[in-house]
Amino acid sequence: MGINYLYPPFEIIRNQDRCIACRVCERQCANLVHHYDEESGRMKADESLCVNCHRCVSLCPTRALKIVKTDHTFKENANWKTEVIEDIYRQAQSGGVLLASMGTPKDYPVYWDKMLINASQVTNPSIDPLREPMETRTYLGKKSSKISRDADGRIITSTSGQLKLDIPIMFSAMSYGSISYNAHKSLAMAASELGTFYNTGEGGLHKDFYQYGKNTIVQVASGRFGVHPEYLNAGAAIEIKMGQGAKPGIGGHLPGSKIGEDISATRMIPLHADA
Ligand code: SF4
Ligand code: SF4
Repeated sequence: MGINYLYPPFEIIRNQDRCIACRVCERQCANLVHHYDEESGRMKADESLCVNCHRCVSLCPTRALKIVKTDHTFKENANWKTEVIEDIYRQAQSGGVLLASMGTPKDYPVYWDKMLINASQVTNPSIDPLREPMETRTYLGKKSSKISRDADGRIITSTSGQLKLDIPIMFSAMSYGSISYNAHKSLAMAASELGTFYNTGEGGLHKDFYQYGKNTIVQVASGRFGVHPEYLNAGAAIEIKMGQGAKPGIGGHLPGSKIGEDISATRMIPLHADA
């Protein structure tokens, strides 16, 4: 076995004055962390197996246990923090890509709490927003660069191909496959409810979501996953993707283990094949 540079993230603190060696923790821990040492007559623990679920802590009858985060650290500098060094060791050891589902494990701000809609940027700013309703409707699309008139001299005010958004916010593209069926459905339903748009990303559009077409932007990218005439006509607009946006792991790679029957059919790619 090779050297393991990763120190267990959690440490088990057992107050030996309180511990009555009842072995409840041993029986209750699904990860086999605790065991009774016959020789010393004391409980011992293998901390590397602990996932900090707190089951033993809450079931210990004498409150003898607590779990703390380790303060073990590497030799850091401005670029190489302990977290980064640990990630590299973890990735080298596992040979895999470090992925976190649903959100990020990093300490990034929650943008929804910081979002400010500037009244000067919206269509019809109210003088006193506390008393007057404020219109947040906004339009995306080509505008005339000059005033044109018809044969009778009337100003032509109609424009073509614009998207109307009731709120100045759209959902950015995340493909079906990179996110689940339910996540896509949630975005489609939310976009419909809010009067805005969600975006299929580069993964085609599941047949179940065609009903949300007027709130859908269908994406076409280099992989052309799920692109066919019906798809191109199913949304309110087509987005042509020029490059990959933010994504964890290894960019737009979708492992074959995620390509089930539904995703395979929607993307028009072979079942269980990496994409
Ligand atoms: S459950 Fe508490 S008292 Fe019982 S053996 Fe474990 S630490 Fe000791
Ligand atoms: S916190 Fe959970 S995983 Fe860790 S030792 Fe207790 S029961 Fe086991």
